[in-house]
Amino acid sequence: LAFLEHLPKVELHAHLNGSIPLPLLRDLAREYASSPDAATTTSDDILAGVQRLQAGEAFTDIDDIFSVFPAIHALTSTPASLKRATGAVLSHFLDPPTSDSTYGSVASVAYIELRTTPRATPHMSRRVYLETVLDEIEARAPDAAALIVSLDRRMTPDVAQEVLALAVQLRREGRRVVGVDLCGDPRAGDMTAFVGLFRTARAEGLGVTLHIAETSGNSTAESKELLSCEPERLGHATYLDEEAREVVLARRTCIEICLTSNLSCKTVQQLQDHHIRHYLARNHPIAISTDDILPFRTSILGEYALLLAPKPVGLGLTESEVEAVARMGMESRFRNTLS
Ligand code: IMP
Repeated sequence: LAFLEHLPKVELHAHLNGSIPLPLLRDLAREYASSPDAATTTSDDILAGVQRLQAGEAFTDIDDIFSVFPAIHALTSTPASLKRATGAVLSHFLDPPTSDSTYGSVASVAYIELRTTPRATPHMSRRVYLETVLDEIEARAPDAAALIVSLDRRMTPDVAQEVLALAVQLRREGRRVVGVDLCGDPRAGDMTAFVGLFRTARAEGLGVTLHIAETSGNSTAESKELLSCEPERLGHATYLDEEAREVVLARRTCIEICLTSNLSCKTVQQLQDHHIRHYLARNHPIAISTDDILPFRTSILGEYALLLAPKPVGLGLTESEVEAVARMGMESRFRNTLS
């Protein structure tokens, strides 16, 4: 454990609202229950989701995971709650372990690119949403954290365009926006409308990372279309066909690997079958990441432990192989606004 704790690691694929430490979520849920919002907007689904999260239940497939995000979102729909969520996520990943930490920090990473999808709520615009997250990042961890702005596959073209414009503007204003992401339910949306936006993002100097081929239902045509944007990194990339994988290998595109997430969502049946094996065998850049620590009940340390643990529990890598993997993550950070 000491080896993994002291290994310099980065977190490059963590969704803010999927990474809220459970104790804070419990606090937010308690406060939400007595707020005016609860009286007007609480649906049975949201209540059920909050109860499951509060109980620390495990989520068992991709439908299950996506069903719970509306509940979490209800709890972070004001600037104040979003600020607390951002602060707690940063603390979880960046603070050294202390016995009196409010939300149970574990020693985690030297650097984090946190990603989030700006939501317009009755309490804030998308711009205020992003400014709230950025204020917290810049105040707490000016050298150790940066923001990736997520576009959700379910967004209308107008909203996606607005979100990209916000990412570009905020970066031009000198805020710590380093990139954009494509995320959301992998079975939703038509990606044709998004391709132009990601090309614009690249032209504006933003890093681009795309969730791609996350499920067996994602078509090869869609993957080809997304690869045509020449993203620097890819999320999951579980079901890339051989042709697409060759493109990725030739370009040395970094793959963000989320082992526990893929196993929990059942997009990968067992660890030994995980597509990480293709990339490890070729010394191809990967970034070990957590995705959503809240529903997947994992940590960056846990993900690295899976690399090191002997087979069949883990992948049986040696310490020097794990060090090389950690270095690859470090080298795959978006650097565009950091120089
Ligand atoms: P947020 O962007 O901070 O609100 O984080 C939660 C959002 O991240 C969800 O609503 C999803 O759109 C996205 N997300 C979280 N996990 C995954 C995943 O495994 N695949 C695709 N999208 C995801």
